[in-house]
Amino acid sequence: MSILFSPTQIGTLQLRNHLVMTPMHLGYSPNGEVNDKLVEFYRARARGGVGLIIVGGCGIDRIGNAFGMTQLDADSFIPGLRLLVDAVHAEGAKIVPQLFQAGRYARSALTGQPSVAPSPIPSRLTGQTPVELTEEKIVEIIASFVSAAKRAQTAGFDGVEILASAGYLISQFLSPLTNQRTDRYGGDLQARMTFGLEVVEAVRVAVGPDYPIIVRVAGNDFMPGSHTNDESRVFCQALEKTGVDAINVTGGWHETPVPQLTMNVPPGAYVYLAHGIKQAISIPVIACNRINTPDLAEEILQEGKADFIGMARSLLADPDLPNKAMSGHSERIRPCIGCNQGCLDYVFRMKPTSCLVNAEAGREAELASSSQSEGPQQILVIGAGSAGMEFARVATVRGHKVTIWEESAQSGGQLNLAAIPPGRQDFLNLGTYLANACLELGVTIEHNLKATPENVLSAVQEGKFTRVVIATGARPISPPIPIEAGVEVLQAWDVLTGRNKTGKNVIIVGGGAVGVDIALLLAECGTLDNDTLRFFMLQHVETEKELYRLLTQGSKKITVLEMAKGIGRDIGLSTRWSMLADLKRYKVHCLDETKVLEVRSDGVLVENAGSQKVIPADTVILAVGSRSNNELYLALQGKIESLSIIGDAAKPRKVLDAIHEAYAEAMKF
Ligand code: SF4
Repeated sequence: MSILFSPTQIGTLQLRNHLVMTPMHLGYSPNGEVNDKLVEFYRARARGGVGLIIVGGCGIDRIGNAFGMTQLDADSFIPGLRLLVDAVHAEGAKIVPQLFQAGRYARSALTGQPSVAPSPIPSRLTGQTPVELTEEKIVEIIASFVSAAKRAQTAGFDGVEILASAGYLISQFLSPLTNQRTDRYGGDLQARMTFGLEVVEAVRVAVGPDYPIIVRVAGNDFMPGSHTNDESRVFCQALEKTGVDAINVTGGWHETPVPQLTMNVPPGAYVYLAHGIKQAISIPVIACNRINTPDLAEEILQEGKADFIGMARSLLADPDLPNKAMSGHSERIRPCIGCNQGCLDYVFRMKPTSCLVNAEAGREAELASSSQSEGPQQILVIGAGSAGMEFARVATVRGHKVTIWEESAQSGGQLNLAAIPPGRQDFLNLGTYLANACLELGVTIEHNLKATPENVLSAVQEGKFTRVVIATGARPISPPIPIEAGVEVLQAWDVLTGRNKTGKNVIIVGGGAVGVDIALLLAECGTLDNDTLRFFMLQHVETEKELYRLLTQGSKKITVLEMAKGIGRDIGLSTRWSMLADLKRYKVHCLDETKVLEVRSDGVLVENAGSQKVIPADTVILAVGSRSNNELYLALQGKIESLSIIGDAAKPRKVLDAIHEAYAEAMKF
């Protein structure tokens, strides 16, 4: 029997199931007010079947907030908050706000005042040094937590969550890295816990004994010299004593060098943190971070590792995930692929959150793909890549009849390539979802059928199709670099598919995302595989240092050459740092601001900082970008009345652009 979808409770709060939408920064409230965008976003998630929604973060004051944040720092926000609460309640879910104070993570450019923290330790995240809080100011901030909690209660929220993780203010007080105070708020762990506990105690007094309080903690800060699961357990035990009703366990700080949310984090990897805390306390524990399928969620609950499952990005990707799973149709769930392109990367750029796989995310108030077309058409799509299939999916939902002609034997296009490098496997899930959705909706996909101007025109003239959409993708480009006669230069795409083998001394020309992916793929050649590593560790065959060496020292010497300044500049901020760290770990030699002058039989002649040299190589791989595969479109232009071009065929860009453009095109008619 499913635990995930059975009724339960947190304190006095009755919930329809064990699935919690954990807080995510959306940036939807430019003036702090609840608006239609926010209400419809959460209404859709509530309608989709989630048990509890944690809205967040919500600013308790102005000195510690972030861009576009829903605010709880004035009574004037209460009527709007009430609308949000009512919308979620009407759909059967419960809702609490997360009380947010960023401390030294706040940006003075946004708040208009210097950030504050327990001690004036510079923040790597903002590049700023906060002002040390006086005791008077500490009292003021505690009062702001209390006022925010009271407002939440007045607005009808079902409880509150207090943020004490991720390197924000309360965790700054907890950590010896950022708390070097000598007053009662600093010193040993007990003293460093004082601020967090005072916040919780004051909120408890203000909201009464029965009002649910959840606290979000880091199961491990993953910061050298900061807290591990051991200290976190001590803090959670103290929280339990203050009357907290549940603990929401996440991973490390925003500054941590350990990836928390990128695609290469194995699903459910950090559940052990929640489990560790659950073993130390008796109140419910919520596990989260990369728990991206209902099956995994159920397994965690069945194994007793947590009491609730937190999902955020998975519900951004598909608000109907719970209902689909409950109705036995998990295969219909649009998967979060852990790319961060539309969520975290947008937030880092201070753009409202979107989603690569879900063009409707954040636009629920204005869009609905279920809206029927007024004039259903017979549509031919050329290309079963991400753009072609997303177009076909949405157009079919809207009442059109769609056929796709795909030149190859496989759907998915470049998603199949993107999924090959290590840690990028989730791209395949998107291809599988789109192909399944098309199949189920009745889209006809004809594989191994090459479209030509003649056969497309003839199909249109015969009346089989009234509209043609070109989604033929892109193809790699070859820069005009002189190549010595007889020397073979490989294309990155052919290396990814395994069509071309590589030697021991590899040069990759192009240090963008594809070049980095190829470098990491080849860097793993000859390293220890997972089974051997497990065997060696269990048998204590080698020292940890030697195992690390065997894991990171492959059989190839790899050099990446990039003409511009910086490697991987087209990779999103949330992911780039960890990929650059991997390049370093695998000892991939990266040279930026380096121009390739010639590919020769003995290597590559380059120019760097005004001097030239030959870098020896037995394999040269080009990863310098792609160009639109638009010849068919150009040949059909002016000959077919309803003709359009989408995705990389229009202009090579990221998958997010292809999906969103395909969606927009399918909504036009
Ligand atoms: Fe998941 Fe990517 Fe969507 Fe973020 S943008 S929710 S990581 S699929």
